[in-house]
Amino acid sequence: MLDFDLTEEQRLLEQSVREWGAREVAPKIRELDRQHRFDAGILPQMAELGLLGASVPAAYGGAGMDYVSLGIISEELEYVDTSLRVIMSVHAGLNCLSLLTWGTEDQKQRYLVPQAQGKKVATYGLTEPAAGSDVRGIQTVAVKKGDRYLVTGEKIWISLADVADNFLVFGWTDLDKKKQRDPSGLSAFIVERGFKGFSSATLKEKWGILAGNTGSFKMEDVEVPDANVVGKPGEGFKIAMFALDQGRYTVAAGATGLIRACRDASAKYARERKTFGVPIGDHQLVKEMIAQMESDYQVSRLLWMRSGFLKNAGRRNTRETGLAKWFSTVASERAAGDAVQVHGANGYSDEYPVGRFYRNCKGAVIYEGTREIHKIMQADYVLGLRQDRPTRCELPPHRS
Ligand SMILES: Cc1cc2nc3c(=O)[nH]c(=O)nc-3n(C[C@H](O)[C@H](O)[C@H](O)COP(=O)(O)OP(=O)(O)OC[C@H]3O[C@@H](n4cnc5c(N)ncnc54)[C@H](O)[C@@H]3O)c2cc1C
Repeated sequence: MLDFDLTEEQRLLEQSVREWGAREVAPKIRELDRQHRFDAGILPQMAELGLLGASVPAAYGGAGMDYVSLGIISEELEYVDTSLRVIMSVHAGLNCLSLLTWGTEDQKQRYLVPQAQGKKVATYGLTEPAAGSDVRGIQTVAVKKGDRYLVTGEKIWISLADVADNFLVFGWTDLDKKKQRDPSGLSAFIVERGFKGFSSATLKEKWGILAGNTGSFKMEDVEVPDANVVGKPGEGFKIAMFALDQGRYTVAAGATGLIRACRDASAKYARERKTFGVPIGDHQLVKEMIAQMESDYQVSRLLWMRSGFLKNAGRRNTRETGLAKWFSTVASERAAGDAVQVHGANGYSDEYPVGRFYRNCKGAVIYEGTREIHKIMQADYVLGLRQDRPTRCELPPHRS
């Protein structure tokens, strides 16, 4: 049976995250953004609300929420600022849900539990200077030495690179397969910031998501014990793609929140600003922009909710999640551009939030599969060139 109503628990969650964001973050976000400053003080508050371990079962330190709730959190956080939702994407989505599904019991106890409790922060390191969309082009290598691997490589454009304690990292363990670009030669590792040979830096030149931390990290012969290999050696590509199914979901829901923020700011301004003796909201061409935002918001919300429904049922959702991510991020770009337009010159100043929305929206059209990669994926599904089979890549079902 289809049910478009939120449960009482989900509604309360939506309300509490919305109120927390409005009270604790919204008043200071413009200043943080102006100063290009990540406020680490937000993390313990998010932990206190149970957000950092949202969909991790209570047995592993999490809040045990269903996956629709994870979407609700992402949407509400990005309504305030993209930098907040990014924390959910890399920590709660890409990293924690991968450990939950692919980690050993020992890895769950050592890493997932403190992460879900918010005592440790985690992120995801796939992209490198020479390889983003082309995952098989990464250069990081992990050479076996006794009961460990020596990992060497550089990751770039990593959210929370200078903040996180734990990193889910991907590199080649089979060098012959690296030459042949055969992804079954890739493996996944948990690397701790404290491991010898690890160093990180913040990217200073970034022009969006300025209240968030984005950076790079280097690994020079970092000794990673066998016990930190996630999945089996050779399963790294599958794990990287599984992780993206979770991260993309939070990005899709987040972009939906950004569209709503554009819509609300535009509607407020259109009621107040007058031209030619009437509020600009009376002009049909302004109405058209607001109508498009409303339509983009509603469609985006339906799309991420469908993915959340599939996740709750433990069903494969790569296709649906990819479509949700592609549609909503492109729609958020349209909404942010039009929100600036509705505000006229005031939209061009950071006195109003829409300029920040405009800078923030673009990242999501690039990360977790660019617009073009998602177009190719969706066309390939339709053309029968790509198919999702039920695999181990599903989340533990969650029925609330
Ligand atoms: C703010 C931000 C945060 C990020 N956070 C993380 C993170 O936490 N962890 C992480 O691992 N990565 C992260 N990334 C990196 C992101 O995932 C990559 O930037 C993304 O995968 C694209 O890779 P690229 O930048 O190397 O672009 P490229 O892959 O070089 O692509 C360049 C252009 O070519 C197009 N293109 C490439 N291949 C094709 C093709 N086959 N057909 C058609 N067009 C194609 C692309 O769509 C794009 O327009 C982040 C990026 C940003 C901007």
